[in-house]
Amino acid sequence: MGQPNNHNQVINLGRHEKVMEIALRRGFLWPSYEIYGGSSGFYDYGPLGAALRKNILDIWREFYCVREGFFEISSPTIGPEEVYIASGHVKSFVDPTVECKKCGEVYRADHLVREVLGMETDGLTTDELNRHIEGIKCQKCGGGFGEVWTYNLMFRTHIGPGEKKVGYLRPETAQGMFILFNRLYGFYRKKLPFGVAQIGRAYRNEISPRQGVIRLREFTQAELEIFVSPGEKTHKDFGKVSGDSLRLVPRDGSEIEISAGEAVSRDIIAHELLSYHLILTKNFLECVGIPREKIRFRQHLKTEMAHYAADCWDAEVCTDRFGWVEVVGIADRTDYDLKAHESQSGVELKSFTPFDSPKFYRKKIVVPDMAKIGPDFKGRAGQIVERLKGLGEDEIAAFDEEGYIEFDGIRLDRNYVSIKEVEEKVTGEKITPHVIEPSFGIDRIIYCLLEAAYNERDGRNVLSFKPRVAPIQVGVFPLVAKDELTAVARKIYSKLRGEGYYTVYDESDSIGRRYSRIDEIGVPFAVTVDFDTLKDDTVTVRERDSTNQTRVKIGELKDKLTIGKMFP
Ligand code: AMP
Repeated sequence: MGQPNNHNQVINLGRHEKVMEIALRRGFLWPSYEIYGGSSGFYDYGPLGAALRKNILDIWREFYCVREGFFEISSPTIGPEEVYIASGHVKSFVDPTVECKKCGEVYRADHLVREVLGMETDGLTTDELNRHIEGIKCQKCGGGFGEVWTYNLMFRTHIGPGEKKVGYLRPETAQGMFILFNRLYGFYRKKLPFGVAQIGRAYRNEISPRQGVIRLREFTQAELEIFVSPGEKTHKDFGKVSGDSLRLVPRDGSEIEISAGEAVSRDIIAHELLSYHLILTKNFLECVGIPREKIRFRQHLKTEMAHYAADCWDAEVCTDRFGWVEVVGIADRTDYDLKAHESQSGVELKSFTPFDSPKFYRKKIVVPDMAKIGPDFKGRAGQIVERLKGLGEDEIAAFDEEGYIEFDGIRLDRNYVSIKEVEEKVTGEKITPHVIEPSFGIDRIIYCLLEAAYNERDGRNVLSFKPRVAPIQVGVFPLVAKDELTAVARKIYSKLRGEGYYTVYDESDSIGRRYSRIDEIGVPFAVTVDFDTLKDDTVTVRERDSTNQTRVKIGELKDKLTIGKMFP
């Protein structure tokens, strides 16, 4: 990890540029495919970035998989076409797009109109966008634009040789969980509610991603699908958080600070379960290090929200560079997804809720008289019997009353059947569960965290990561590179790694430079071995944010290097 050059001096850049400069130089984030000239919308996570992401995901798992008890699954990232026809992505996952006739630059049409004309573009039709774009020139070359067209954001591919079987790279991890409903329902012993988690890559062929890791073509999502009975959108622990405060921007555009409980009782948030998940999201974001005052929840406008959704809130984080950025979407998706996959696949995706005791109903049934139907209808007899089996209660009642029924061009008299009343025992009810979906964009959270953690001290860069999140937790240094000190320092280095700390060892340059080097990548603790160590087995522990230094016995280091409480 040793840095050959100390570039730690703060160059005169904006906060975003400074953070990105550190991220690039110190191995957090690297634009992908650099040696081939780069490809926008893709980023590599370098060693420190990958470690930071891992720590954030570990905390996420502790919040949802451990505490909420939602098991994690892992689905393929390529899916056959049917999946995305059912989900609506083939038809509706489109952005309005426009191309400059002169230089060929492609823009997202609604963003262009919003940026240039400063107007709200949600819900504008293609024709309306075309009218607004008439007066706009290409921002790159000043050329005019062609017609707006709709562009599907999914990456299309083929499964197997040839072009017969179309597939798509998943644009979200969610569908993998809906498709598995029956298996998962069985796994959870056929009881609602239950939740499932999935962390993985999602792919969206964004039009012209120019915002670093905020808008990527391949990114990491951490999603939850919580399957509930439609009438039970509550949480057993809601009482514990109902007094916690949320900063909300409801649909009317106002900004309010309100408790989770009051937001539900005043009908601002649709129900307790959604409100509970807003609180959990806020706690998670704070736990990874996003300051409370930078977090708010914005309710989707009716025009922005999918038509089937009952309510939808975005967790937004305030950034210097991009303003408020959506990092998590929390939606009540109703029964839309399960019903869509049920109708596309023909496989029933329902839960069964048993009644406390069986219920008995009297109902009419139709019994075909084959001795009459067979000879009279011959080849069509089978079709008639099938059709009679599928008759609903209302149809049977009408048949009974009117004395005949007509279907498929056939008129069937009452004397071809007998209509009987029987008692039916019903032991429970089949329903399509509703789904509450919190969907986290991990790359955006990482960017927001880098920006929030960045500060300057005496002209030097510091990333104030929480110890749990920091990619490296301890730096071990001999005061000077003398054999008697390096031997002890190396021993401590190895001992701390054995105890589970992410640790680095460094003996080059002055101790001050080494401290700055680790401050810049957010290492919370430094342990320095000096000549007193050889006499009394003590070392200096320096804390990154306060720069306080304390003398600690080597055997007591573990008590001093506290990685912190998991939950706020
Ligand atoms: P969505 O399914 O669009 O609600 O996305 C869920 C979450 O994924 C969002 O809240 C974002 O944090 C994240 N996200 C969506 N699109 C992108 C993208 N192109 N690049 C990075 N993150 C994204």
